Amino acid sequence: MTAPILQISGVGKRFGGFVALDGVNFDVAQGERVGLIGPNGSGKSTLVNCICGTLQNETGTVTFGGRAMNGLVAHERTHLGLARSFQLPRPFVSMSVADNIRVPLMYTVATRSGHHLSHSELGDHCHELLKLVALEAKAGHRVQDLTQVEMRKLELARAVAAEPKLLIADESMAGLSHSEVEDIVSLLLQLNERGITIIMIEHIMRAVMRFSQRLVVLVSGKKIADGEPQAVVQEPEVVRAYLGQ
Ligand code: ADP
Ligand code: MG
Repeated sequence: MTAPILQISGVGKRFGGFVALDGVNFDVAQGERVGLIGPNGSGKSTLVNCICGTLQNETGTVTFGGRAMNGLVAHERTHLGLARSFQLPRPFVSMSVADNIRVPLMYTVATRSGHHLSHSELGDHCHELLKLVALEAKAGHRVQDLTQVEMRKLELARAVAAEPKLLIADESMAGLSHSEVEDIVSLLLQLNERGITIIMIEHIMRAVMRFSQRLVVLVSGKKIADGEPQAVVQEPEVVRAYLGQ
């Protein structure tokens, strides 16, 4: 057994008097695909923020790659191999699709190795990522011209440009059509095959079930279930608190 890539241990977070996360514990194994589900407001994005360093948890510890993340800010965690896509994509809207990928690529290589990519290396790497998400034809387009699913793909390509070991996709499929959802799930499966451990946060259960090897369920900031997906979705408490709604 290799050590887990991510260990969430007793993580708690309050907003004023409101308890958003209440002693959450779970581990994610290297290479695993975990689905994180729960009702709106259950603390999923807050947990992502605590994992990625956008927020600092007040209690407990996030350990990534064997190293406690307490006190490290977001860009330091990105540097160590943690990446997330946002629920609402945050591209550089005034730049082209390709430039939106070049920027994180340049940043990643410069901060990891201290050297700068040549123009052609950068172009090759960028093309490879655009191809991965099937956006080669849109390389020179402005981001405003992308459809919603293309925007989600760009968001994932930008996250992958940081060469993450762990990727957290926070509602990458909300508002997409059936076939677009299938596209994004296939893309995430492909990224996982390339060795990236993935946590998927999603309400579309068809996608969650196709993707996940394990399901974790959050309700009101507490983990109420964790295990094999088919078994978890039949647990009475999960049905009562989330799936039966
Ligand atoms: P989810 O992603 O599961 O829908 P969130 O983690 O976004 O839930 O939110 C959990 C709860 O914490 C919600 O009640 C939300 O209103 C609250 N919350 C989230 N972020 C903040 C914040 N920055 N300030 C105050 N309350 C917040
Ligand atoms: Mg959320």
